[in-house]
Amino acid sequence: MAPSQKQPPAAPAQTHRVPSLVKYEDLLSRTRDFSIIESTLREGEQFSNAFFDTETKIAIAKALDDFGVEYIELTSPVASEQSLADCKAICQLGLKAKILTHVRCHMDDAKIAVETGVDGLDLVIGTSSLLREFSHGKDMAYIEKQAVEVINFVKSKGLEVRFSSEDSFRSDLVDLLSLYRVVDKAGVDRVGIADTVGCADPRQVYDLVRTLRGVVSCDIECHFHNDTGCAIANAYAALEAGATHIDTSVLGIGERNGITPLGGLCARMYTADREYVMGKYKLAKLRDIENLVAENVQIQVPFNNYITGYCAFTHKAGIHAKAILNNPSTYEILKPEDFGMTRYVSIGHRLTGWNAVKNRMVQLGLGLTDAEVKQVTAQIKEMADIRPLNIEEVDTLLRKFHASAEAERIRLSPSDASLHARSSNDNEGTLTAPSPTATDAVNAEKSRLPAPADVSAALA
Ligand SMILES: [Zn+2]
Repeated sequence: MAPSQKQPPAAPAQTHRVPSLVKYEDLLSRTRDFSIIESTLREGEQFSNAFFDTETKIAIAKALDDFGVEYIELTSPVASEQSLADCKAICQLGLKAKILTHVRCHMDDAKIAVETGVDGLDLVIGTSSLLREFSHGKDMAYIEKQAVEVINFVKSKGLEVRFSSEDSFRSDLVDLLSLYRVVDKAGVDRVGIADTVGCADPRQVYDLVRTLRGVVSCDIECHFHNDTGCAIANAYAALEAGATHIDTSVLGIGERNGITPLGGLCARMYTADREYVMGKYKLAKLRDIENLVAENVQIQVPFNNYITGYCAFTHKAGIHAKAILNNPSTYEILKPEDFGMTRYVSIGHRLTGWNAVKNRMVQLGLGLTDAEVKQVTAQIKEMADIRPLNIEEVDTLLRKFHASAEAERIRLSPSDASLHARSSNDNEGTLTAPSPTATDAVNAEKSRLPAPADVSAALA
């Protein structure tokens, strides 16, 4: 485990364990024994904004390797002269991850690809009736013969080889299974199922992979497009049915709206087996890798992105905030610290609760009684009914309220004021906290136009 993934020193909130999810063991399931084929440098190059120069490709490959993905898949060296040169350059980096390139199942392409220094070839050919009729125009007998010829050639070079259909879910099942049985016998390392158009649902995926698992003895790789939002769920269903390898890309970038995202798959698999996933991958590096790719393809990381979206660990409602502060696993299935992330409890809004406000007071080193915290919480809510407050505004309000309460305490009992402030959870109602400053702030706020909101308060 990487140092960055260590648990922080014991604090009350960190000692709680995430309760086990209801799990069932399945002899077929590979959810605790799978590999990632990271395709940002192949599928990701098909994203509309993507243009990776050599330097960027190398930076991404190194980052993915450091993260711990088992395979990195590159664009076909046949695509262009630069693609060929980049493929060779990445093969020479000496990465731990195996380097694959994705080529048409054709001898011309295979001959070029095996000379680049890659560890393996991912062969692909369309098998759906649509592709057979409108794309390459070949029948199944021809596809079988060609597949075996190319597989034998790649194996003769001592390289790994995968054979995949394209658009597997709209291919004839009998055709598909008989083709895969043939390539399995020919010694292919993996067969691939590709939902090229993003039409499959998890049940269809489970059924097809499970059926295939009974037909071939080699590994099974799966590739899911996300047109209908099923790419992560389909990957998980595939692993449950016995698939062994899942294709991902950083932020899911790819053709159209892309494929299973690396971060989203990690989130999903972490919930299945936290120790296994943390043992294989440096999860705290996800954010940097996503930022690297996002910057290069000129997009923002989405607000609701798995793990790294800006609100992924932000808690807002008062009831949630109270429970989270007592035990984070009440409303968090992912521990932010496992991903190098920080939890936020948002308090400058009308849904806030006094427990969250009290926590912020403690962070600021401001002692107030519970009754006083409730008073200042009421003021925050009153102001936030006009517009949400940002953290600086909340802190200012809390400090002014505290100063006012302290002054009142000193006026009433100069000798024990500070003692009183620190200890008193049990004397609600004994003090009045007129806080004229805070009230003035409310009035001043009412006269202003609403401004953009920044409602998050960092918890340590
Ligand atoms: Zn694809």
